[in-house]
Amino acid sequence: EHLLKIVFVGDTGVGKSSILLRFADDTFSESYISTIGVDFKIKTVYFEGKPIKLQIWDTAGQERFRVNYSHYRGCHGVMVVYDVTDQTSFENVPRWLQEIERYAREGIIKMIIGNKCDLVSQKVVDPFLAKELADSLDVEFLETSAKQAISIEEAFISMVRLNLNQ
Ligand code: GDP
Ligand code: MG
Repeated sequence: EHLLKIVFVGDTGVGKSSILLRFADDTFSESYISTIGVDFKIKTVYFEGKPIKLQIWDTAGQERFRVNYSHYRGCHGVMVVYDVTDQTSFENVPRWLQEIERYAREGIIKMIIGNKCDLVSQKVVDPFLAKELADSLDVEFLETSAKQAISIEEAFISMVRLNLNQ
């Protein structure tokens, strides 16, 4: 059976833990999810009829650019998450990507995720700009909502597809 290790990075509060909980447990909480250190969940998805076991690591958000080499050890993919209602979280995406360049193995699959797309009236990050950034780096971009379960499954399936097709 295929095993893929995936980690989340991104500013505190963007919804990393919520995306993981939606995907793995199909639940959502309005309050901050406290993550003590690192924690992971396992979920098996089917891709082209084959079972792929995903081991998905959550990290406490307070680490702000202080994730290090060990965070990415053995890792196949990274989801860089920002909050579509928080401009700063988007401006920090390139910094998170630099961290990945520095610490992760070459060829690791990266995706940019704009979460909380359900908050339409509070949205401040233009998805066109996010797409432009993603295209310039040759990575995939998706807007998601952990709250309304929008494109959560798709994000992980894209990650699997990008890994298996590389
Ligand atoms: P983390 O620090 O990146 O792990 O963020 P959390 O998962 O703890 O989420 C931070 C806050 O954002 C919590 O209050 C969540 O309920 C909220 N949140 C997370 N995802 C969404 C979403 O898709 N839509 C909305 N409206 N709120 C969300
Ligand atoms: Mg968290």
